[in-house]
Amino acid sequence: MAEDLNPFRIAQMQFDNAAEKLKIEPWLRELLRLPDRSVSVDFPVRMDNGDVQIFTGYRVQHNNSRGPYKGGIRYRPEVNLDEVRALASWMTWKCAVADLPCGGAKGGVICDPKKLSLSELERMTRRFTYEIRDIIGPEQDIPAPDMNSDGRVMAWMADTYSMGRRQGSFGVVTGKPLFLGGSQGRVEATGRGVAIVTLQAMKELKMKPKGATALIQGYGNVGSYTARCLTESGVKVTGISDVTTCIFDKRGIDLKALDAHVAEKNCLEGFKGSQHLEKEALFSLKADLLLPAARENQLAAAKAVAVQARLLVEGANGPPTPAADAILAEKKVFVVPDILANAGGVTVSYYEWVQNIQREQCPYDRVRGKLEEKMASAYAAVKDVARKEKVDMRTAAYMIAIGRVCESTKTRG
Ligand code: NAD
Repeated sequence: MAEDLNPFRIAQMQFDNAAEKLKIEPWLRELLRLPDRSVSVDFPVRMDNGDVQIFTGYRVQHNNSRGPYKGGIRYRPEVNLDEVRALASWMTWKCAVADLPCGGAKGGVICDPKKLSLSELERMTRRFTYEIRDIIGPEQDIPAPDMNSDGRVMAWMADTYSMGRRQGSFGVVTGKPLFLGGSQGRVEATGRGVAIVTLQAMKELKMKPKGATALIQGYGNVGSYTARCLTESGVKVTGISDVTTCIFDKRGIDLKALDAHVAEKNCLEGFKGSQHLEKEALFSLKADLLLPAARENQLAAAKAVAVQARLLVEGANGPPTPAADAILAEKKVFVVPDILANAGGVTVSYYEWVQNIQREQCPYDRVRGKLEEKMASAYAAVKDVARKEKVDMRTAAYMIAIGRVCESTKTRG
């Protein structure tokens, strides 16, 4: 039977599993299984050739009982409401695992940014921001970058929102360029956070970073910074894949040369320094660590069977399917779940938001130090619950997160 790959149903299954263990009241369970609000907008954009194209976008707000909604905006042809609903709920649990005073939201627009000119991308971003202007705001809902969106997109969003308010309201988004109120260390934060928890897990599994080998799926924001941060500790990244190809070098891929290639070509294809394999081959290569950092449902059951790594850290949101998750557990692969592993991005986004309120900018070392502390303590708390409750790390992370959200929901009354 084919696996159910609907990300929202998968997110609900993960929630149900932990909610069952926590024995939370039926009304709370019903409330937290669903988003507070799902907004869909269809809007026109003038293209460079004079034609008008209609785009569809979404903003889903899952839960704000611990603070304003927070979550990225992705641009992808396959974006759909259930994907955004899943990602919004994962944001709620992620913020709660990291103990940030924020709720969960997510947004997306159905588009292929590679087929849009820069000015079309700007007009599309501005119109989308205009369409959702009433439900976002620095105290209400704060978007950030996700797949195919970046600091430039955030600057357009901040400007469009500020124009409507007749004031500079840059705290409406995070992940902004530094000179517009962005935070030091935000661009690398998700990858750095993934590397921090990877090193924590390696310590526990008594794996030495120096000389350990790693495979990374995806070489965008998360994958590339994870690779760079891990190599700082002596880990050798031997395999990387993206939408175009998989590259492999058992001596360790030369990341400087790769970065120069990607800066020019925007993909791994054509990189001369390593052997090229089918992109699907990555998961079955021999290595100590496996870090999926591309997108959801990339690791299905058939691929999980072939995994050789001992430790899998989820840089992306929702990479293994539930069937793959069960196979990894059987194979005793230690899995650090997405809502813990990639919480570094929203953590530094939260620091950026605080800096915007205080009208100040923290130096890089302070931001990095706070991120390291936050990720290490979140990892330790999840590990502790996993040990005490005899559950896997995913269930433990959900139990902490759901417990915190339930506590604030009930206390607020
Ligand atoms: P990105 O667009 O910068 O990069 C995505 C990468 O994945 C690209 O290299 C792309 O080629 C690759 N990819 C896509 N499909 C693939 C496939 N089938 N096989 C191999 N490679 C494939 O995106 P990103 O911002 O790095 O986000 C990656 C994941 O991390 C997403 O799940 C996102 O939701 C999650 N995430 C991102 C952040 C952030 O701060 N950017 C924070 C938390 C979680």
